[in-house]
Formats: sequence, structure tokens, C-alpha cells
Amino acid sequence: DLARLTEELRRMEGASYGRYKSLAGDWDFGHFTLAIERVQSDPFAPPSRIAVRIPGPVAGLPVHALHPAARRRATADHLVRLAHRSLKGARLRIDAGGQEVIERSAGRIDDSGAVVLRLGIELPGRGRRIDARTAERELCDRLPAMVEAVRWSELDPGTAEAFADTVEDTVALRDRLAGLGLVAFVADGAVLPRRSGVSDLPMDGAAVAFRAPDSLRVAVDLPHAGRVTGLGIPEGITLIVGGGFHGKSTLLHALERGVYDHIPGDGRELVATRPDSVKIRAEEGRRVQRTDVSAFVRNLPTGADTADFSTENASGSTSQAANIAEALEAGARTLLVDEDTTATNLMIRDSRMQELVHGDREPLTPFVDLVRPLHRRHGVSTVLVMGGSGDYFDVADHVVMLDGYRPYDVTARARELAAERRDAAFAPPAQRIVDPASVDPTARGRARLKRRDMDVLTFGETDIDVRALAQLVDPGQIIGVGLAMRLLAEDGLLDDRPLSEALDLLDRRLADGGAPALGRGYTGDYALPRRYEVAAALNRLRTLRVLG
Ligand code: ADP
Ligand code: MG
Repeated sequence: DLARLTEELRRMEGASYGRYKSLAGDWDFGHFTLAIERVQSDPFAPPSRIAVRIPGPVAGLPVHALHPAARRRATADHLVRLAHRSLKGARLRIDAGGQEVIERSAGRIDDSGAVVLRLGIELPGRGRRIDARTAERELCDRLPAMVEAVRWSELDPGTAEAFADTVEDTVALRDRLAGLGLVAFVADGAVLPRRSGVSDLPMDGAAVAFRAPDSLRVAVDLPHAGRVTGLGIPEGITLIVGGGFHGKSTLLHALERGVYDHIPGDGRELVATRPDSVKIRAEEGRRVQRTDVSAFVRNLPTGADTADFSTENASGSTSQAANIAEALEAGARTLLVDEDTTATNLMIRDSRMQELVHGDREPLTPFVDLVRPLHRRHGVSTVLVMGGSGDYFDVADHVVMLDGYRPYDVTARARELAAERRDAAFAPPAQRIVDPASVDPTARGRARLKRRDMDVLTFGETDIDVRALAQLVDPGQIIGVGLAMRLLAEDGLLDDRPLSEALDLLDRRLADGGAPALGRGYTGDYALPRRYEVAAALNRLRTLRVLG
């Protein structure tokens, strides 16, 4: 069909732009097929969408690139990156992701070893006329060249193997954490700081490589890297202290990202965090819909029932309380907290403030009184950055001090400074049932899903502010969140069961079907989100109703 497509395009030269529509359908190029799935109606509309399927024998992937599953996922990701590189300067676009390796719609390897790549292309026009010559160059030259570039016989096998080895090691490391009683691991030699606040690339030159303190050093045997050593952060309560600018937040950010795998050379390849880790922060102004925040907040001046708390405009402390309650409801068992983004009055209350403002006038139970029962009774660990107050010495199991970007175990010294502290009672937050009808992806009769940068997910007729979701790391995940919300609502997963169980069902679908399970006819780019971010977006949906 290559010749047929060439001919077809040549006939279209100078025709009105709408004639591109006639290209829709499958084109068999012999060694691969091109499916033109959606054709834009004019040059200014969102790019057209195409898929390329390269059969197993042509792709030529060896068994070790496909098994176990982590390697297959890694290889698919690597091929997308190779495709992206080969398309430099082309109008064809493939969504290749950033420093994390996250399953995405752009590239997939099926059970037969066939590679499916999904791309966008701005079909070229001169005004409203078809520029067929350019289109021919893209579809008939650059596309086949891209296919060549991702064949195993053409790519550099060493690099591809290293990519899969890296991901397989990270997955193995993460899988080992629970058995070792750890919530996170940071390898010796890891490079945590990034190039800048707006670049996720590793800091070059000046970065101080990570080196664990001896007393907290753990060794883990990995399939490819062999024995690696590093800081093991145990279950329980771990405090990260240190002077300003000594690298505390940088370490916590690395832990936030440790739920994902990283590409070789990132510096965080061997930083792994338990999958149930959720970053908690204050988020003034967010909406809260019938969330039980009574463990943290009681006796509000408004007289509101905090076991069933709703507001269109949460304060710093109530938003953080809701974020914790909702994360726990969604299944989080490791909380990551940084003083830089918390509400101070929800974190600590010192003795002088207790003297001045007595218990019955203060509606908040500070987190410091809850963090121990959270762990002891409910198995929820916390890793907390706190450089500004010693109150948490009383409750910490481990205290790590960062000094000049180097961690030291200062647990013993902190214990000497600790005081007795009475725990508050912590009851697990109520399990809510969401009204599926309130999760409506349609706008003017059609499903609508859009994102604006990393800030906003447009879901049907509503905008969801996702800026506070630190572990939403890939633009594609924002669309993925919207698709997951749609699946929850449209397939009845939310019906008559608590949200947490609906999320279990979602997880099972994604484990079985991968990214395509989310597709639902959506032809654009998306990446897999985690259940915690799906729940968080749902909780921020302004139309959300909770049934009980
Ligand atoms: P803190 O939270 O303790 O105030 P940050 O984590 O924000 O400190 O780090 C302060 C600065 O130090 C940032 O610019 C960060 O990029 C840099 N930094 C952090 N860790 C390292 C490191 N290991 N090597 C070099 N620079 C680092
Ligand atoms: Mg900081």
C-alpha cells in the first residue's frame, strides 16, 4: 500500500484540506501497517492520530527484551524514546515521556512481540489546501525510517538491554522493601538533586552523591546490579532534619518519585519507595466533599460536623486533614510530608501556644499526636521533613540529619532531647460511596477530556485543579486520570461499593489490561496514573456527590 498511499497523496496536492479525511483507515506497508485513526478537519485543529503496528518477526525482539513483564514495559518505553529521537524535526510526534518510565499509550508490545506505536501528525497544508509533498515525506519516508530505527537488528542492543536491566532492578528493589521492613531505599551513589526547579534532569557536576549513614545502611541483591547498599528507611516514623538548604526537600522529592521507575542516567534509578506512598500537603482553597476529618479537626467555630465535613474553600489545615483522610481511604500506607508545604497549625502546637489557647478553643489535633497511633494501630508509616521544630523528636523512630547533603543518623541524640507525649486517638476515616452520576465526563453530549499543562484536568464540563498532586509527574497521566475516572463511572465500578473497593477494581483492570484498558476509544496520548491520584482528582471534582 505504500505505492497506493504515495499515489493517493500526489493526487491530493492542492486539493481542499478536507480531502485528507479520505486517508482514514488501514494501510499495509508490507513490513508494518499504518492505521490512520483520526484526521483533523483543518490545519489548526489538534493533530491527526495514527498507529503503527510492527509485527513480531519484523520487530525482532529477543525473549530477554520481553520477559519478565517489567522488561517488556521497559523495552516498549525505550522503543518510544528511539522513535522520538528518529523523528527529530518531523511533523510526526510521539509522546516519549520524561525521566520516569511509565506505561503509556504511545508504545506497547503485545503478547506476540508486535510493537504498536501511536503518534500524532499535523497534516501539512498551505492555507486550506493540502500540501501533499510534505505529507508524503512524513508518511512515506520518515515513518518507515522510524520503523527501521526501532527494529532490534537496527538499534544498539547494549543500550536497550541496560534500559530493561535498570527498570527490572528498580522493580525488584521496590518489591523487596516490604519484606525488609522498609518504606524506602536510597542507594549509595544516587544523584537526587535536579538541574533546576523546572528541569527534571539530574544536576551535573556539583551534585553530592548520596551516601547512607552506616547505622541505617542496608544491602539488597538485585538481578543485574548485584549487591547494592544504601539508606533503608524503616517502617514507622522517620524524621528528616537539618539546616535550611541542606537537601531535605530534595531527598523527600526523590522519595515521592520513588514510586516510579527511572531511565538509566537519571541518578534515581535505585531510589525506590513503597507503591502505597502518598505525598501529603496543605492545599488552601480546595473543595472537600463529605470527608471524615474528625481525627484532626473538631469543634469548628461554625459548628460543622467534622466527621462529615464539606466545604467549597478549605483552610490550610482542613485541606491537609482532608488530604490525609482521603489518601488513607484510597489505601495509602506511607505518608510523605514536607514542612515546606504543610499547615504549621496542623503539624505542631508548642507548650506556650497550648498555655495561651486552651484545648476546647483549639479545634485541631496536631499531626504530631496522631502520627504514632497511625503507625501502631493502623500500620501507616510517615516520612517527615521537619527542620523547624523538635516536637517530632518525641514520636520519631528514626531521625536522619542532612548536613551538606550528607545524611547522618542522629536518632540517639534526638531521643535525649525528646519528651513524653500522649497520643491522641485515631479512628480510620469513614469509607465513602461516591454517586456515579456525579462523575460525568460529558460536555454537550460528548465525552470531553483535556488538560492544561500540569495544572488542570478538564473532565466533562468541570475543571479539576491537580497542581497539588505532587506524584502526578507526566502530562499523559493527567489524561490517564480522566480516563480512569470515566471508566470508574461508566463501567459501574463506583456503584454500591466504597470508593476504596472501586479503586481495587480499577487496579485489577489496569494490572490485567495495561494502558489499553483505559483507552475507551480515546486516540490521544495518555499514561497510566496511580489509584491515589485518580482518587485525589475525583475528590477535587466540583460536581462530586457522596452518597454516604
Ligand atoms: P532544604 O529542604 O533542606 O532547605 P533543598 O532540598 O531545597 O534544601 O536543597 C537546597 C538546594 O541544594 C537546592 O538548590 C538543591 O538543588 C541543592 N541540593 C540538594 N541536594 C543536593 C546534593 N546532593 N548535591 C548538590 N546540591 C544539592
Ligand atoms: Mg525544604
